[in-house]
Amino acid sequence: SKVRIYTLAKDLGVENAKMLEILDGLGVSYKSVSSTIEEDTVELIKDILAAEAEGGAPAQADADTTPAAAPTEAPAQTTVQTAPQATEAAAQTGAAPVADQTEAPVSTEKEIPHRAPVVTIMGHVDHGKTSLLDYIRKTKVAAKEAGGITQHVGAFEAKTSKGKIVFIDTPGHEAFTTIRARGANVADIAIIVIAADDSLMPQTREAIAHAQAAKVPMIVAINKVDLPQADPERVKTDLTQLNLVPEEYGGDLVVVPVSAKTGEGVEDLLEYISLTAEIEDLRADPKGEFSGVVIEGKVDKQAGVLATVMVQEGTLHVSDFLVVGENYGKIKAMTDSNGARIKEAGPSTPVQILGFSEVPSSGEKVISAKNEHAAREVVAGRADVRRDEEDARDRRKGQRSLEDLLGPLGTVRTVNLILRADTQGSVEAIQGILARKEKDDVKINVMLAGIGAPTEGDVLLASTAEATILCFSVTASGGVKKVADTKGVDIKSFRIIYELIDEVDRLIKGNLEPVF
Ligand code: GDP
Repeated sequence: SKVRIYTLAKDLGVENAKMLEILDGLGVSYKSVSSTIEEDTVELIKDILAAEAEGGAPAQADADTTPAAAPTEAPAQTTVQTAPQATEAAAQTGAAPVADQTEAPVSTEKEIPHRAPVVTIMGHVDHGKTSLLDYIRKTKVAAKEAGGITQHVGAFEAKTSKGKIVFIDTPGHEAFTTIRARGANVADIAIIVIAADDSLMPQTREAIAHAQAAKVPMIVAINKVDLPQADPERVKTDLTQLNLVPEEYGGDLVVVPVSAKTGEGVEDLLEYISLTAEIEDLRADPKGEFSGVVIEGKVDKQAGVLATVMVQEGTLHVSDFLVVGENYGKIKAMTDSNGARIKEAGPSTPVQILGFSEVPSSGEKVISAKNEHAAREVVAGRADVRRDEEDARDRRKGQRSLEDLLGPLGTVRTVNLILRADTQGSVEAIQGILARKEKDDVKINVMLAGIGAPTEGDVLLASTAEATILCFSVTASGGVKKVADTKGVDIKSFRIIYELIDEVDRLIKGNLEPVF
């Protein structure tokens, strides 16, 4: 939840001025000490103070080398990545690393229980995403519990021999990216479904690009292996060309042949999901402060506003007060993904909640408040912050964002691009030229190269990765342009390859400009 700066200063026993100094170092904007800051920033400040207490590592230095500082990162990641740094700082200054520091989350990490993985299924149209989800739902969900009525709530829980797996049941990368575009991460693992008779298709590449941009581990399910014309080997070879090397070819990509029709291989797939989850060491504290993300919201004619929320940390209880954006509500009733009434829900549980007055959008973050008064305060605080930000927006335009300030480690810069062209030939020609433009200190990352006009999905991907969309002989539709405008994404169209390349040169130069 958001915290006022002076409250935090008081809680941590430091001067307000000191707090503002740290915030300046982090590049976080505020209006006064009564402005509120994000929870993730709070964690970061605590880490900086802890590191300073250990050995006087200046706040600035720590901020500059902390990639987890972006306020959009999940708190769990902040914890994992910043904790060793505090210890590092201690080691550098000669102080013995303290194992049981109260402020260092690393010591408590081990006691936080594991949670079930949340999985999303992506891939090209007709490659079998829906069929695979249906098969898993049919065989792994105890629908009897809820009288056999399985209603779509946006996610479901599958029970496997290795434990629970939660599936987001809106297949496709649109849902995934919409959630990510709001700064939330819901999926822990992405299943890329590729039909064995069709191999890699444009949306397969998109799905892969989206999973890579989100740094979500991928498992490839080669589907439809029951078909006589199935050619799983070709799929594997094609993947290799994207630098995704299957395990059996010496790489680290897990590839599982399956059939959503006969069920062949589905058990293996589920096992690999559990295995990947184990490696990822997914944990969440059921006793911690609640936080969650909206999976979907809708209005039901009888029930009213219904929202499916994924619990990420803590536990939800009926009658809790929740805040989403600038709205709050009290949980009147909760049902699990089987439609069964429940009184509480812990981490990695999708729950359908009755009690919001407005329909929340997927990807919005949900927090809880102690009571109605506190909920109102949070909402009022957010409205204040929004107004401040609206006021500041024009002034800020053109200035570097927090992400820029805290950008990649070292001096290597990355220019993220999404490339759209009219033919495969032009895509390849442009990629060939771009590859030669790379320098030791500038990496050109073509996140996605596709044929045809840019899509809304491209814009969302670009906005989360701060990429520029370059079009050659194709133009964005009005709708896509509008989304790009609101997201602050640049779409540039060219009819001459060398003009496009000039633009890339400009982007390379722009990125070479010293950050202060
Ligand atoms: P989606 O667009 O990716 O969700 O694909 P669907 O699940 O709708 O599947 C597209 C078509 O492929 C449907 O006609 C399915 O019946 C068929 N299909 C899906 N999986 C399999 C499979 O494993 N084997 C065969 N033979 N057909 C499949």
